[in-house]
Amino acid sequence: MANKQVCPRCGSSKIVEYDTTFGCRECNLEFQKEISLDLDEEDVLSIKEMKGILDELGLKQNSNKLTKLNDVLDMKESFDQNKHKN
Ligand SMILES: [Zn+2]
Repeated sequence: MANKQVCPRCGSSKIVEYDTTFGCRECNLEFQKEISLDLDEEDVLSIKEMKGILDELGLKQNSNKLTKLNDVLDMKESFDQNKHKN
C-alpha cells in the first residue's frame, strides 16, 4: 500500500493537506487525518457528513418542535394531494 494520502471516499490522490485535515479536490470533501488513519475506509465520514449527523442530533433534541413541523408538512401534503385528485 502506498504511503501517499488518498481520498478515503473516491481514492483520488488529488489531496490538499492541512494541519489536521485534508481535502479531496475530486469530491470537495474534507477529512480528519487522525480519524482516517484508524477507521476502515468505509467508515470514514467527511466533516460535512459528521456535521450533518450532529445537526440531526441537535434537531432530535427539539423533537417536539420537529414533530409539530412534520405534522404541519404532512397535513399540507395530504391537502395538496386531495386538491390534485379533485
Ligand atoms: Zn475524493
